[in-house]
Amino acid sequence: MHWFWRATIAVVVSFLIWTAINVVFARMLSGSAFRNVPLQIGLSLVRCATPLVIFGLLTRWCTPVRIPPGHCQKCGYNLTGNVSGVCPECGEKI
Ligand SMILES: [Zn+2]
Repeated sequence: MHWFWRATIAVVVSFLIWTAINVVFARMLSGSAFRNVPLQIGLSLVRCATPLVIFGLLTRWCTPVRIPPGHCQKCGYNLTGNVSGVCPECGEKI
C-alpha cells in the first residue's frame, strides 16, 4: 500500500477515534479538567502521536516480507547446501 494511503487512513482513523473519545468522555474532559494545562498538553501529545502509531502499524502490517535468495519462497527456510530439490521444512519444490 502506498504511503499516501497509509497516512490518509491513519489520519482519518485517529480523527474518528478521538471524536468518539471526546463524545464518550465529554463530561470528564470539561469543567476542571478542561483548565488543567498539563493534562491538556499531555492529551494533545497523545492525539498527535495517534496517527503516527497507526501509520507505523499499517506500514508493518501492509509491507510484504521479502524472502532473500537461497531461502524457501514459501516458508523462508535457509536452503544453503540443499540439493534435494525439496524444502526440508515445508516440502515445497525448489
Ligand atoms: Zn519451505
